[in-house]
Amino acid sequence: MRMIFVGPPGAGKGTQAARLVEHFAIPHISSGDMLRAAVKEGTALGVEADGYMKRGDLVPDAVVIGMIVERIGKADAATGFMLDGFPRTRPQAEALDVALTAAGVKLDAVVLLEVPDSLIVERIVWRRTDPDTGTIYHLKFSPPESDEIAARLQQRKDDTEEACINRLSKYHGETAPIVPFYEAQGILRRVDGVGAPDEITARLLTSLQH
Ligand code: AMP
Repeated sequence: MRMIFVGPPGAGKGTQAARLVEHFAIPHISSGDMLRAAVKEGTALGVEADGYMKRGDLVPDAVVIGMIVERIGKADAATGFMLDGFPRTRPQAEALDVALTAAGVKLDAVVLLEVPDSLIVERIVWRRTDPDTGTIYHLKFSPPESDEIAARLQQRKDDTEEACINRLSKYHGETAPIVPFYEAQGILRRVDGVGAPDEITARLLTSLQH
């Protein structure tokens, strides 16, 4: 299974991606996670990406394309992968097509997780991550199971209301145009991202069955 997971920030992609990659036994390739790791390690790429990310702006295409093309060339991605957060612009989608064609492989599915803007900010500003397990919580709707976990939760630097509004506007301006690109290829599946996490996982699995 070679798939792309697309959706606005805060749509629940991270939570659902973790379940889908386990189901299909494929590597989860999240451009956001890779960039955050690069920022933390202080690599040249991380230093370049940091300012863009804090503001909620997109990191330049050339930087992200190189990083992802290198990653999908690794042995563990030879027979399948899930791309999460990439491509995020039309040039990224086109560059990915070129790389996959050169490797002689094709995408099986592009899943679009749809959540209305009115729900996004509420989801993002209450979002927290457990640095030890990677589990994503929502302080109101999906709170941590214990005080011990609550004490170590972290908030992403770009999960402020201001950066979130900027990320949403970037999503509509730059990322939404990749949807017709994949629709024209006949591999787009739209999934309603509003509901309980288990319900959404079931919808996603159904959409990927055919
Ligand atoms: P995410 O974890 O997918 O929400 O990404 C967090 C941030 O990383 C984004 O707001 C961008 O600044 C940057 N980023 C992640 N993926 C990409 C991409 N494909 N192209 C450009 N910037 C990206």
